[in-house]
Amino acid sequence: MSQLRAAAAGALRRRSGGRPAPPAGQSRKRAPPRPGAPAPAPPPARHLFSDPAEIDALRGNLLAWYDRCKRDLPWRTLAATELDADRRAYAVWVSEIMLQQTQVATVIDYYNRWMQKWPTLQALAQASLEEVNELWAGLGYYSRGKRLQEAARKVVSELDGRMPRTAEDLQKLLPGVGRYTAGAIASISYGQATGVVDGNVIRVLCRLRCIGADSSSPAVIDQLWDMANALVDRSRPGDFNQALMELGATVCVPKAPLCGECPVKQHCQARLRKLFGKPSPVPDVEDCGVGGCPLCPPAAEPWDSSLGVTNFPRKAAKKQPRTARTATCVLERRGCHGALEYLIVQRPSSGLLAGLWEFPSLPLAQGLQEKKQREMLADHLGWPVMAGALRLVGEVVHIFSHIHQTYVVYSLPLDEDVTLDPALSPSRWVTEEEFHASAVSTAMKKV
Ligand code: SF4
Repeated sequence: MSQLRAAAAGALRRRSGGRPAPPAGQSRKRAPPRPGAPAPAPPPARHLFSDPAEIDALRGNLLAWYDRCKRDLPWRTLAATELDADRRAYAVWVSEIMLQQTQVATVIDYYNRWMQKWPTLQALAQASLEEVNELWAGLGYYSRGKRLQEAARKVVSELDGRMPRTAEDLQKLLPGVGRYTAGAIASISYGQATGVVDGNVIRVLCRLRCIGADSSSPAVIDQLWDMANALVDRSRPGDFNQALMELGATVCVPKAPLCGECPVKQHCQARLRKLFGKPSPVPDVEDCGVGGCPLCPPAAEPWDSSLGVTNFPRKAAKKQPRTARTATCVLERRGCHGALEYLIVQRPSSGLLAGLWEFPSLPLAQGLQEKKQREMLADHLGWPVMAGALRLVGEVVHIFSHIHQTYVVYSLPLDEDVTLDPALSPSRWVTEEEFHASAVSTAMKKV
């Protein structure tokens, strides 16, 4: 048995991975100009909102549409009804972290269960990481839950339970809170007139102002933050920011935007470009598009009329996810009540899927023959079995954001009773029901 424990510990040590990068513009700060360097030229007029009357009209149209059409979401209800500013900020913060790279429809149930279990920062600060991981299981990007809890503990222990009251302080004082999240919390919870830039806002603004340069580049991101800060409605900043994001999520969608229903279509340069087949007649237009403009599409990739407004935004080609193969073994035994039980081990507390539970697993080199895989897995398990006793069940593919992962699944039924020493590596036997209630990833549930 000690070999098995040692092997499980080895499995934990051998795995590694990184956390997903924050959304573009979350944490990057604009570099100050070099002393003596000439100030950069302002972008041409067609890429800006410089007319106060147009800004007013856009705010009014967008907010009126939002009041009519916004989705009824639990975090919006809490933000609108909670009187205590710390609780309100906490409710918005949880929603913003859960919504990062995750669909609204998926988040709703997780959010409701989370807020029921931990309605305040203080309640979350007292939870164990195991409880957090169990509730987060299946939501993906697991470090988000862990960091949220770490930051809640910091607010309780170092900030007297009081959430920072500005976007600047939120970003500075709370680990895991970047520029976007700080702006969202401050504008929605406290009414601070500060803009936000997320993927939806990038798409809407790039279309409104025909910005076709790489939308993940620092020059474009800086421009979009400036624009978001200039546009945000001074009296309803939280609603304005949510309206802009809502527009990107429901109307100005990536592939087939509903321009006919769009409340800001009269302000949209991309739509005008599509309707008239050429840039709209605004001053300085001849300065634009023929090289030199940092916000126009690159000369090598000009406007494509078949794409219409979806010419914008543009992004540098995404890096292909790397491929990885992992052998994993489902060890099973008959428990004392006759039910089947399975052995799971806990992953390290940092790196990919930190702290989650999984079947004992071993990363494989590419192109390894099956015979060799069995030998390595048997050796890794440390169980006195012949490699041939492992039964190959099949393969399971799971796509993480940056890894195309294939699990080669083996099973091994055990006849004898096994006792594990909890002092060594974290491992335990669970029934199928307990497995599903544990902090396990979606990939392991597929296995
Ligand atoms: Fe997006 Fe179309 Fe509205 Fe322009 S008019 S903002 S492209 S939905």
